[in-house]
Amino acid sequence: MRVPFSPPDIGIWEQIAVIGALDSGWITTGPKTALFEEKIAEICHTKKCACVSSATAALELVLRLMGIGPGDEVVTTAYTFTATAAAICHVGAVPILVDIKKDSFAIDPQQAADAVTGRTKAVIAVDFAGIPCEYPPLVEAVSSARKFIPSNPRQEALGRPVIIADCAHSFGAARDGQVCGEMADFSCFSFHAVKNITTGDGGAITWKPFPGEDDVSLSEELHHLSVHGQQRSNPWDYDVLYPGYKCNMTDIAASIGLAQLERMDAMFSRRRELVRQYDALLDQERFCRPGHFAPGVESSCHLYPLRLRGVTREQRDRIIRSLYEQGISANIHFKPLPMLTAYRQMGFSPSGYPIAMKTYENEISLPLFSTMTDEQAEITASALKKICLNL
Ligand SMILES: *Cc1c(COP(=O)(O)O)cnc(C)c1O
Repeated sequence: MRVPFSPPDIGIWEQIAVIGALDSGWITTGPKTALFEEKIAEICHTKKCACVSSATAALELVLRLMGIGPGDEVVTTAYTFTATAAAICHVGAVPILVDIKKDSFAIDPQQAADAVTGRTKAVIAVDFAGIPCEYPPLVEAVSSARKFIPSNPRQEALGRPVIIADCAHSFGAARDGQVCGEMADFSCFSFHAVKNITTGDGGAITWKPFPGEDDVSLSEELHHLSVHGQQRSNPWDYDVLYPGYKCNMTDIAASIGLAQLERMDAMFSRRRELVRQYDALLDQERFCRPGHFAPGVESSCHLYPLRLRGVTREQRDRIIRSLYEQGISANIHFKPLPMLTAYRQMGFSPSGYPIAMKTYENEISLPLFSTMTDEQAEITASALKKICLNL
């Protein structure tokens, strides 16, 4: 039996929804996107939401909304996908990578605070695997750095670097009674094909009440940014406020998202069941579990990033190859950014990130998706255990 890594969970409901969108005569951004935004805001306990074409675009627009650009620095984690740091580069700012906290996959709040300089305008944390970061200590640490120099009224109103959550993995997750989307100043979601809820490709932005701003105008501003800076006064006339970007969500995509939200609870509980099953099948002596059920955490169970105790990078790579040979697709999350050519050329080196490197070295992400069967999880766990015995 083959076990794919993370195929999308798309069924008849999504097919019907897409046909509905195509038949409606409105296929770009329109009423379905507006409804999808309303539902996301409801799930995230926020007043508003702005949908865009990807999480990468969402991160970029938040940085632009805050007036962050050339000459500025943005602190983020070395243990993430390139999109997190690329968005910083897209606005012309400089990414400053810091290590993760020991025994976690999350950015180290103290190292983030230590990286703050007079040029730092934002910190982007990543809710890795669907486990939300602890935002209050991060905000506290970053605020206490006291080096912040605002360069526009919006930055001044906040009075500290803006905290942005990369929630590409964590839609629907919660921590200590707060859901993802309402914890950081801004939260950026992804609906890419491999994520828990998909629209094929897509993204969304939510935010906490921002000092001195009302949610409706912030939402309008994000929508203007995402479509040419265009402002409509009525159906036949418009103004262009500045040469804006083009990263809106289409109603075709939103219709898929709306169908997915209808099934979200069932899809999420299936993921949780599978994680419990993996946890039960894999002994703690050899395998260090991802922590989806840590106290206070309600994970979205996006990934199952297992740590293989005492296993070297070469052995881990051999394990993945061996699983592939048996038709089981495992993966690695993530190759730390300083290992990649683009970030090495910016001057980052793996040696500066000992915890990220140690974590990467023996990490293996097991297949996990909402249509996965118990049997597929059992086959995966027993194949892994057998390979580890014969390393
Ligand atoms: C997938 C991913 C993104 C990018 O999402 P897109 O919607 O494809 O732009 C950003 N950050 C992390 C951590 C991701 O895994």
